[in-house]
Amino acid sequence: MNAATAAVVTVGTELVTGLLVDTNTSEVSLALVRAGVRVIEAVSVPDDEALLAATLRRLIADADIVVVTGGLGPTHDDITREATAAALGIPLVRDPVIEAGLARWAARHTDARASERILVQADVLHGARVLPALLGTAPGQVVATPRGSLVLLPGPPREMRPLLAGLSAEWGQGATPPAILRCAAVSESDVQVATQDVLGGRADVELTVLAAPGDVRVVLFDHGVGAKGLAAVARDVAARLGPLCYSTDGSSLAETVLRLAHEGGETLGTAESCTGGLVAAALTAVPGASDVFTGSIVSYSDRVKMDQLHVPPGMLAQYGAVSEHVARAMAEGARAALDVSLALAVTGIAGPGGGSDAKPVGTVWFAVSSTRGTRCEQRHFPGDREIVRARSAALGLDLLRRSLQGL
Ligand code: AMP
Ligand code: MG
Repeated sequence: MNAATAAVVTVGTELVTGLLVDTNTSEVSLALVRAGVRVIEAVSVPDDEALLAATLRRLIADADIVVVTGGLGPTHDDITREATAAALGIPLVRDPVIEAGLARWAARHTDARASERILVQADVLHGARVLPALLGTAPGQVVATPRGSLVLLPGPPREMRPLLAGLSAEWGQGATPPAILRCAAVSESDVQVATQDVLGGRADVELTVLAAPGDVRVVLFDHGVGAKGLAAVARDVAARLGPLCYSTDGSSLAETVLRLAHEGGETLGTAESCTGGLVAAALTAVPGASDVFTGSIVSYSDRVKMDQLHVPPGMLAQYGAVSEHVARAMAEGARAALDVSLALAVTGIAGPGGGSDAKPVGTVWFAVSSTRGTRCEQRHFPGDREIVRARSAALGLDLLRRSLQGL
């Protein structure tokens, strides 16, 4: 069976003018993709009724599911209901139940025109299924199209989310969610080539590779292979990627590190210089991190490296703060100071200043100290300060992961 197709439309002049970052597209598309639906287009349209109607006419012809967010509010620029009615040739009908729910809000306005605009939120496309919303706000609507359905959702993300969650289960029925494999500290192209080797030329699995600094995601879609077949392909790809692949269930690197530490009965701490606590931030963003993570010493200056981590002053003078010796001393010092079984140290030159011929910007030393000893690694990361710091944090987490897996 071919996967259902979908298009996502976000409505708002603020979105196409760059005044507001569109987060709904990402949330809606991800929900669709997780439900096994293939998103063929995502587009933002200003608050322009004719433009939106034209866009919707085109998309309902191309996609089985069209999801629209925004423009359902009470102000004059909220034109999504009218544009949809025009595109589908379906009249709008005032829903008395929704209208009664809105009456309280309408009564707050002394100007009759403002009250009327509140009540406009009770206009429903004839024959639509209403998705009840929070009190006093516009409901979502689902209406049939010749190919499938069109869904209207409110623009504010916290109003949109609960309605989206309800729809996800419907979209997911009988579909195969994509398989997601995650890798750290590898190049996107290496992962792509290795995965394509396994896939050969098969057309029943579609591959997308997503890369962020230090995090590469391999996403495999069911294009006819079926759920069991996709799981088997994912296992083959994971085997081919070997230790590069840290997760096959979508969990993040920080989540993986915490799970492994928990399973191994280890406790974790970090000593961070150029990452300034980014590794600790990633770990503590995961609920329950306190089970295994005790803390971090952000040892940015030599003084803190000496006072808190007991790095010898002579070592700093002789080798410099960005060196194998100092990384090792930082990790061992953190293991003692934080009283943990496994400690990571990161010290590097994030730039733009501070580089030299011997130690250019992007030079980073890592050390992991455990009951099995201390291991150090050096990297030269290309890119600006932000990228060097992000890559350093990702590799630091991956070194913890490798140590915990005995790699
Ligand atoms: P609306 O009902 O479309 O006028 O949207 C109301 C508010 O919801 C906007 O002012 C934004 O703050 C937010 N919003 C609308 N669309 C989006 C979107 N695509 N992504 C993030 N926030 C949005
Ligand atoms: Mg708007």
